[in-house]
Amino acid sequence: MNVTEKPARTRRGVASSETAREINRDIVLHAIHLHQPVSRADLARLTGLQPSTVSVIIAQLIDEGWVVPGSLGRLPRGRRPTYVTLNDRHVTLAIDLRPGKANLAVVDINGKILGREAVAFEIKASSTPEEARIVIAHIARAARSLRATYGDRMFQGLGVSVSGRVDQRTHRLLFSPNAPWGQIDLYAELQRVLDTPIEMENAANACIVAERWFGNFSDVSNMIAVSVSEGIGVGMLLDGRLVRGREDMAGEFGHMPLEETGPICGCGSVGCWETFASNRAGLRYYRELAPESPVNSFQELLELALQGDIRALRSIDKMMTYLARGLAMLAAGLAPEIIIIVGDCTALWPRICPLLESQLIAKSFTPHTPRVVAALDGDAARLRGAAALVLHKMLFHQMDFASRHESEQSGSKPVPAVA
Ligand SMILES: [Zn+2]
Repeated sequence: MNVTEKPARTRRGVASSETAREINRDIVLHAIHLHQPVSRADLARLTGLQPSTVSVIIAQLIDEGWVVPGSLGRLPRGRRPTYVTLNDRHVTLAIDLRPGKANLAVVDINGKILGREAVAFEIKASSTPEEARIVIAHIARAARSLRATYGDRMFQGLGVSVSGRVDQRTHRLLFSPNAPWGQIDLYAELQRVLDTPIEMENAANACIVAERWFGNFSDVSNMIAVSVSEGIGVGMLLDGRLVRGREDMAGEFGHMPLEETGPICGCGSVGCWETFASNRAGLRYYRELAPESPVNSFQELLELALQGDIRALRSIDKMMTYLARGLAMLAAGLAPEIIIIVGDCTALWPRICPLLESQLIAKSFTPHTPRVVAALDGDAARLRGAAALVLHKMLFHQMDFASRHESEQSGSKPVPAVA
């Protein structure tokens, strides 16, 4: 194969020919992912590579099994081009681990969820490591049997979405105040049963990855995902990069002190944002308003609100007012274009969206307030994001997730993206 006609440049200078070949391979693969089904001629136009180079790379990708020739295109005259697509026989397992349940799925290379399962369990932040290990072994066995159901597919690994932060070097859960997973080696426990490559990621980060990789915002370089459940976690894509911070701890805005007093948070502090704006806070507001009316879960509270129960609606409104206060701080400090809300509360989106947006506008000091959107299916977003992390690692040789935007911005130029 020819070395790229324009020498690929890395941040450290001109890349070696081998690196340049891998970069061009990644760029073609990425263009197929974004534009499939797509012809070789269109890929040459989209990437700025010579048609002959594109053809060689496509042959290599077909050989590797990542790409398959598909249908014939139509042209007014001349030979009909063959479109290529990613090979959707490639799939991953995905687990979204939440405090009371785990959602499991098989996700294909295009983000399509082929099969799903849910495993419910009783566990608390104060549960023992042994109890946590038993639950994880149970989930892993369910994942193994789900994988067996799709035995004709090519599994690339397991993606895990968790609330809490994951040290990407050691795979250990660093901070998970609402669940006991930090007490055990989650990665090793899953590996023992499933014996497959594993990627673990914070749930809000997983949602950002899902939007970038499979979603509607693949061209947005400044967006944040705010996951609202038992706690609040934030994932940030700023200037096209997933922000991780020191020891991968960035994004714990749920523990930003919003008030001087308040209920004790899972982190041990008081006044944290999540003690006022999480699902738990919504439930607490309802119990204060309706002490005689027992509601056991946020889901029950939502159902009451959807039926028009005034006290349930007021509780959710109060929770959203606090959510908006924190969002205004994030908007002022991070300047996102898009804020994605992920969580069960989005079931009431027609009511809560105007509330969040009006508060953001009221507190904004620029005319550019971010658009607030709901992740339509938060469960699916976390699962697809976890799967995307695995697929991305398997697919690309040189391109890391966060730098893909550079090749998009460069448009026609084969610009490398070496991490
Ligand atoms: Zn806290």
